[in-house]
Amino acid sequence: MFVGHYAAGLALKKVEKRASLGVLFLGVQFVDILFFPFVLLGIERINIIENFTDATHFELEYMPYTHSLVASLFWAVLVYALFRWVIVKQKGIALVVALAVFSHWVLDFLVHTPDLPIWKDASTKLGLGLWNSAIATYTLEALFLLAALWLYLRSTTAKSTLGKYGMAVFVVVLLLVNIVNVFGPLQGDSKVVLAVSALASYFLFAGVAFWLDKTRS
Ligand SMILES: [Zn+2]
Repeated sequence: MFVGHYAAGLALKKVEKRASLGVLFLGVQFVDILFFPFVLLGIERINIIENFTDATHFELEYMPYTHSLVASLFWAVLVYALFRWVIVKQKGIALVVALAVFSHWVLDFLVHTPDLPIWKDASTKLGLGLWNSAIATYTLEALFLLAALWLYLRSTTAKSTLGKYGMAVFVVVLLLVNIVNVFGPLQGDSKVVLAVSALASYFLFAGVAFWLDKTRS
């Protein structure tokens, strides 16, 4: 799952308004932000295979340290501890950022073909496999994102014209980007290009979310 993860960020902002939306957007992609450098370092493995599923060109072969259930819980607890006792020292914020980190696994579980391990044991891998239908994948991500946008807009107030329309336009842009992501052809077989473009989009989208959130209160 790609843009659908941001639904968790927008929804958690409603739960804890003091949390930064930019931080929540990084939180929901935290394990992917670790995954791509891990791939380049040879710690985890992805294989680029054209049309591996209807919605992706990737076989996610080995990723226990980022996408296993145990690792996801570990990262969420670690992030909780950092925000609770080091960064903001605020329980509510620490909790929603940790939930954002763990939400990644839950949403990935819906779409991934069984490639999410419990821990390192390769014989038990989970995933409901919505990726076998590109239309179903796209629809689910779009519904999540639109529902979360609605929650976010209802729980915040615009401070300017940009504040009034900015976040909705941003969500439309994310949905357009996801058309290419879900239905588009293979963009090339370079893992470096894949990793760099994925990481760039995660930080860019978090930056835009941070900026647009400042236009609402
Ligand atoms: Zn992921």
